[in-house]
Amino acid sequence: MRVGEVRVNGRTARQLPLLQSVGPAVRLCILDERLRGTKFVSLEPKSVLNSPQQTGVDFWSLNPYIGCEFGCTYCYARYAHRYTVERAHDAGRLSDAEFQEFRGPHGWEAFEKRVFVKEQLLGVLERDLRRYFRSFGPTNHPPAPIVIGTATDPYQPAERRFRLTRGILERLARCEGLNVGIITKSPLVARDTDVLRRLQERSDLEVHISLTTLDVALIKQVEARSPMPVVRLRALKRLADAGVRVGLIVAPVLPGITDDVPHLEALFQAAREAGAKFVHAGPLRLYPAVRDRFLPMLEQRFPQLVARYRRAYEGGSGVPRDYARALAARIKQLQARFGFPLNEGMADRYGRRLPPAQRELGL
Ligand code: SF4
Repeated sequence: MRVGEVRVNGRTARQLPLLQSVGPAVRLCILDERLRGTKFVSLEPKSVLNSPQQTGVDFWSLNPYIGCEFGCTYCYARYAHRYTVERAHDAGRLSDAEFQEFRGPHGWEAFEKRVFVKEQLLGVLERDLRRYFRSFGPTNHPPAPIVIGTATDPYQPAERRFRLTRGILERLARCEGLNVGIITKSPLVARDTDVLRRLQERSDLEVHISLTTLDVALIKQVEARSPMPVVRLRALKRLADAGVRVGLIVAPVLPGITDDVPHLEALFQAAREAGAKFVHAGPLRLYPAVRDRFLPMLEQRFPQLVARYRRAYEGGSGVPRDYARALAARIKQLQARFGFPLNEGMADRYGRRLPPAQRELGL
């Protein structure tokens, strides 16, 4: 059996009860399990489309999964997983022992190995869409963007089996006048070229293929199990060739590791050759939930940078203001040189409120 193959203890995959019922609480249920230990856990959401008021950003967000097998060391979405596990424990759907197992010894492993799957989300989405459309009067069109994949990758390996993202896109393709963004590192997005094209006929769509470097050795150090650069670029090209508006998002740019001109140039060149319509980039944000996972990797792989990072990020999660300005200028120069639109970062496109930049870090 190869790594990643489905293994469900010799039983059918659906509704395998790992957690037995104790009392009235509905216990969490394992849907599937992989050889390397990843478990997919059923979650019945009350809502899947998060409003700007709920999240503090200026767009609506949608994440079919909580947790992500790609396991990037810089991923800021671990907090959402932790919150879900804590809520399940508080609600009696996880025992104390299960709670420990769902956290892992360091508190971050479970994000990569216990992936919550929002089953039955299409019914919930129907209700959420009514709420979404009600929130707009006739005067404030076009509607606020809906971004899929803000807190986990919507095309992570689980999607191959559960097809939740595809179901969402099928539903959104029946709407008109939406503004939809998708962020992913996975070539699996090209599977849905047909539905993306349909969606784009009636709404604005942008697919953001996320890639921080072309350096395979570096990818393996920083993103434990993410797809290799070549397959992401191939997916980008497939979408571009099919007429889907697709581009590259280079985020996070890692100070002192991937922010040099040759590094960024190579990404811009690859994006150009693959047919990208835009390239965005943004620096690392070292949120508290990121530090536990990222800093040990930095200590192990880039010990010479540890002191610099600690100094730069000691006051908060954002990069120092001077660094942010210098990086933005560098990106803008590259956008101009390679013929991409300027100033089309995620913040510009979706109006995201970014945390304030702090202190100094030289490029
Ligand atoms: S692919 Fe995205 S969601 Fe998944 S671990 Fe990496 S940064 Fe986090």
